[in-house]
Amino acid sequence: MPVLVMKFGGTSVATLDRIRRAAKRVGVEVAKGYDVIVIVSAMSGKTNELVGWVGETSPLFDAREYDAVVSSGENVTAGLMALTLQEMDVPARSWQGWQVPVQTTSAHSAARIEDIPPENIMAKFAEGMKVAVVAGFQGVSPEGRITTLGRGGSDTTAVAFAAAFNAERCDIYTDVDGVYTTDPRVSAKARKLDRIAFEEMLELASLGAKVLQTRSVELAMRYKVKLRVLSSFEEQSDDAGTLVCDEEEIMESNVVAGVAFSRDEAKMTLVSVADRPGIAAKIFTALSDGGVNVDMIVQNIAEEGRTDMTWSCPTDQVARAQKAVEDAKTDGIINYQEVIADRDVAKVSVVGIGMRSHTGVAAKMFEVLSAEGINIQVITTSEIKISVLIDRKYMELAVQALHDAFELEKAA
Ligand code: ADP
Ligand code: ASP
Ligand code: MG
Repeated sequence: MPVLVMKFGGTSVATLDRIRRAAKRVGVEVAKGYDVIVIVSAMSGKTNELVGWVGETSPLFDAREYDAVVSSGENVTAGLMALTLQEMDVPARSWQGWQVPVQTTSAHSAARIEDIPPENIMAKFAEGMKVAVVAGFQGVSPEGRITTLGRGGSDTTAVAFAAAFNAERCDIYTDVDGVYTTDPRVSAKARKLDRIAFEEMLELASLGAKVLQTRSVELAMRYKVKLRVLSSFEEQSDDAGTLVCDEEEIMESNVVAGVAFSRDEAKMTLVSVADRPGIAAKIFTALSDGGVNVDMIVQNIAEEGRTDMTWSCPTDQVARAQKAVEDAKTDGIINYQEVIADRDVAKVSVVGIGMRSHTGVAAKMFEVLSAEGINIQVITTSEIKISVLIDRKYMELAVQALHDAFELEKAA
C-alpha cells in the first residue's frame, strides 16, 4: 500500500471536536487506499504551559527532565487521535517516539533524528492496521532517555517519517491554508503561494516564519520529500495548499518571494574593547563556548584604539551571553567597559532566489525603511536574503512597507 504522512499542528488538535475533524480527513485518505502515518502535536498552548512549569520549578533546569515534561503533550493527542479513529471503525494504534523508535542524538531539547527503523510500524500495517498515530516532537536518545526536537519539531517528525517510509507525500495540516508571502497575521495583503522553492522556504523558516520548522525543510530537501502545507479547517482538494518543491518546478516567481520576521532577537554590545587583531576571535569563541548562537555581527568605528562590538542572539540566550563575556573578562581573556543588552529589537528579512540574478534589492529595502523613518541597526546578507535588525516597535510597519514595495500581493 502507498504510505501517506499527515501532520496535525496544535490548533488542529486543540479540542476533541477538532481531533474528530482531523480524524475524518485521515479517514478520507484511508478510503483512497493509503496506509497513513499521522503525526500529532500537543493541543495548542499545552507545550508553552509545560515549558512554563519547568522554568518555574527549576530556572536552570536539567534538559533531560525538561524533555520528560514537555514531550508529554503529544502523548495525550496521539492516544486521543487513535481512539477517535477507532470510534470511526478505522484500525489505528498510537506510538510514542521511543516505541517506534525515533532514534535521536542526546542533545536534549534540540535533538536531531538519526534514524527511524520502519519495521515495527510496517509489521502492523501488514496485519491490517490502517493508521499509525505517532506523537510528534519526541524521540529517544542512545542512552534511552526521552528527547525533544526543538519548538515546532513535529514538522520535522513528519518529514522524517515521510523519508523513512518512502511516503507518497507529507501533508502538514495547520491553521493557515498554505505558505504566504508573509505571516497573514501581520499583513492583510499577504498572498498564498501555490509553490515555493525549498531554499526559499528554508530561509523564511530560519528567519522566523514558523509555519514550518527549519529542520523539516532541510530534511525534505535532502530526501526529496513531497511536502505540502494546507489548512485543517477547510475541505481540501488534491492541489490545495502550498507545495514546497525544487526551484525547477516553479515557472515564474518574484525576485522577492517573501518577508520574514523574528521578535526573538536581542542586540548585545560590548562597549570599549581593544581594537586589535584577535579580539573578535576571543569574544566570539567565548560566546560559542558558552552555547550562544550569534547571528548578526557589527564592529563599530574605532576611536583611540577602542571599539564597540555588537551582535544579535536569541533573547533567551542573553543571560548565557552575559555570563560568557563576564567570565572571559574575569579570566583576563578580554577587556571591556560594559555589556549592554537590548531586547527591544526585531529582525526583518526579505528572501528570494531571484536575488541571485537581480541587483538593487538591498538598496530598495533600505530606501523603503528610511522612507518610514525606521533606523537600521545591523545588516546581514546572503545570496538569497537580506536581514536587518530594527526597533521592535516598527516591526509590523517594516513588514507591511516591504511587502507593498516589492509588490508581493501580485503574482509574478
Ligand atoms: P502548527 O501549530 O499547526 O504547527 P504554527 O503556529 O507552528 O502551526 O504555524 C502556523 C503559523 O505560522 C500561522 O498561523 C502563521 O501565523 C505563521 N506564519 C508565519 N509566517 C508565515 C507564512 N509566511 N505563511 C504562513 N504562515 C506563516
Ligand atoms: N508541541 C511542540 C511545540 O509547540 C511541537 C510542535 O507543535 O511542533 O513546539
Ligand atoms: Mg508548528
